[in-house]
Amino acid sequence: MQKLKLIYEGKAKKVYSTGKPDLLIQEFKDDATAFDAAKRGTILQKGVVNNKISTKIFALLESKKIPTHFVESLNDREMLIKKVGIVPVEVTIRNIVAGGMAKLLGLEEGIVLKKPVLEYHYKDDALHDPLINEYHIEALGIAAKPEMNTIALYSFKINDVLKEFFLKKGLILVDFKLEFGRFKGKIILADEISPDTCRLWDSKTKEKLDKDRFRRDLGNVEEAYQEVLKRVMA
Ligand code: 5GP
Repeated sequence: MQKLKLIYEGKAKKVYSTGKPDLLIQEFKDDATAFDAAKRGTILQKGVVNNKISTKIFALLESKKIPTHFVESLNDREMLIKKVGIVPVEVTIRNIVAGGMAKLLGLEEGIVLKKPVLEYHYKDDALHDPLINEYHIEALGIAAKPEMNTIALYSFKINDVLKEFFLKKGLILVDFKLEFGRFKGKIILADEISPDTCRLWDSKTKEKLDKDRFRRDLGNVEEAYQEVLKRVMA
């Protein structure tokens, strides 16, 4: 499948049209941004790492009956995906308090939650992706109630699958962000699942092995991404 035209360029990915109207090519970049692009940089080989990790995870989720936009891997940085209409809501699932939840509620990072927390954030960088709930989503016509039920169901199932998968690799899945889209009237998982979109801590040392190393200037950023890739592929 050939790339025809660049139709979208985001912070971490480019999307191209193909000869087929239902299919697109998603290319992963090394560009890294944080805090709604106030901080910018490059993480060498990040695009390759995130493409490989996302490929592995999408295939795993498909095998567990969770529909995704993933069609096939094309090369180191590109995958063929289904063309979806993105639901402009970021779904966050949290198993352990960190990041935005620690800040919002004045909590210490590392508190293990009694059950997973699901959050919705409206996808708008200028507004800093504000926290919203299903009433906002329904009342504003962002998505319908049955769609949100499906999104919540898939999100918790994805958490169960990924928590177990990462733990076998010596990684604790602290939290992660998902995006969903509509394909032929059905909700499917879109975007990516990678150390850009998950917090992953080493299960023994609790060392951070994700984008927080970039966000917080912790050093060894590339090494952390490579370590996650090595474990995911093992
Ligand atoms: P938080 O709300 O604590 O900043 O993020 C929760 C989780 O979702 C983290 O794993 C974080 O990486 C991911 N996440 C939330 N928003 C974004 C976003 O806009 N971009 C990326 N790459 N990840 C996000």
